[in-house]
Amino acid sequence: MGLIVQKYGGTSVADVDRVKVVAQRVIKNKEAGNDMVVVVSAPAGMTDELIELAHEITDEPPAREMDMLLATGEQHSIALLAMAICNSKHCAISLTGYQAGIRTDNVHSKARITEVQAERITKMLDEGNIVIVAGFQGSTDDDAITTLSRGGSDTSAVALASALEADVCEIYTDVDGVYTADPRIVPEAKKIDTISYEEMLEMASLGAKVLHSRAVEFAGKYNVPLHVRSSFNENQGTIVTKEGEAMEGVVVRGVTHDKNQAKMSIFGVPDRPGIAYSIFKALASAEINVDMIVQTVSKNEKADISFTVSKSDLRDALEIFKKVGENIGITDIAYDEDVAKVSVVGIGMKSHSGVAAEMFEVLAEEDINIQMISTSEIKISCVVKTEDTEKAVKAIHRKFIPS
Ligand code: ASP
Ligand code: MG
Repeated sequence: MGLIVQKYGGTSVADVDRVKVVAQRVIKNKEAGNDMVVVVSAPAGMTDELIELAHEITDEPPAREMDMLLATGEQHSIALLAMAICNSKHCAISLTGYQAGIRTDNVHSKARITEVQAERITKMLDEGNIVIVAGFQGSTDDDAITTLSRGGSDTSAVALASALEADVCEIYTDVDGVYTADPRIVPEAKKIDTISYEEMLEMASLGAKVLHSRAVEFAGKYNVPLHVRSSFNENQGTIVTKEGEAMEGVVVRGVTHDKNQAKMSIFGVPDRPGIAYSIFKALASAEINVDMIVQTVSKNEKADISFTVSKSDLRDALEIFKKVGENIGITDIAYDEDVAKVSVVGIGMKSHSGVAAEMFEVLAEEDINIQMISTSEIKISCVVKTEDTEKAVKAIHRKFIPS
């Protein structure tokens, strides 16, 4: 008995039959004596359809109106799920993010949750209701609707779980949990039983699609236990939790890849204090995340800088460089969308050396060229040509994950 926050992703509420299955699952947990808060995504594909719809009207929809439109996908799901539950002897009430007290900053389409005012939910739970909340959305101080970036319903669920001090936050999806690699590429990939927040955060940021990285960041910060599992069966999934002693024994927890990457290079950058700041400040102000920055040794007081951004940010990044570049005298800009990032993650790397060399060796054996490298205490990432992605992931998995 306790308070459970469950989140169901798009495939779990893809059609009416799936919604009925979810309703049964929620009711079962309620009848076991738990207070239930359920966060849902839009039905699978709906958010994409809404984006296309907007683009039939204009190439550049106003950010505020785009969020207003996208938030309707989740609203569809909450109402249907509440109806399905109310069909039984239980009571459910659906709430939009705004109604649920989810407050955000005003960065449309990538808003961050600033506060959860949970009193309304608490009151409804006390009255015996099952509370259904629209994921992926919140509202600003001016009551404008915002969305949290694609896949953001996970973050809504974790934020609610934290605010309500839930016993667990269960993330329901269409796979059995988090795997050592994408099973579509590596059929031998194994489900991970337990993973630390730190590792999960790296994996999510580096392309493992099963969890939204902000959700993991949030969960780690507020110590919300996560259970990632399938809504299609009763199997135990993956527990994401605080780092435990036994965890360091595994050197590489997982192998990830991310094809949503683009490489940008800027040439002839003046080599003097303040230049990197002005470049990356401009990108940061536009909420563009930069990764894997490499600067060459300068010749004639000019250097070249390469870095990666997500493909979806490339256009905006180029625009910014046109402006900033003129100011600081950059001579040339190039970009390459035909790249992918392949990474290994594991907290065991803190105490094991030589993992990078082994990873480079595997790639050399496969005749794969490494374009960029970045490392942290618990991860190593290489940028390779897109077409080499699958080959690289397979070979690296074979090397590091015992079968
Ligand atoms: N419906 C949103 C999306 O497709 C949010 C989510 O699924 O978490 O990105
Ligand atoms: Mg999702």
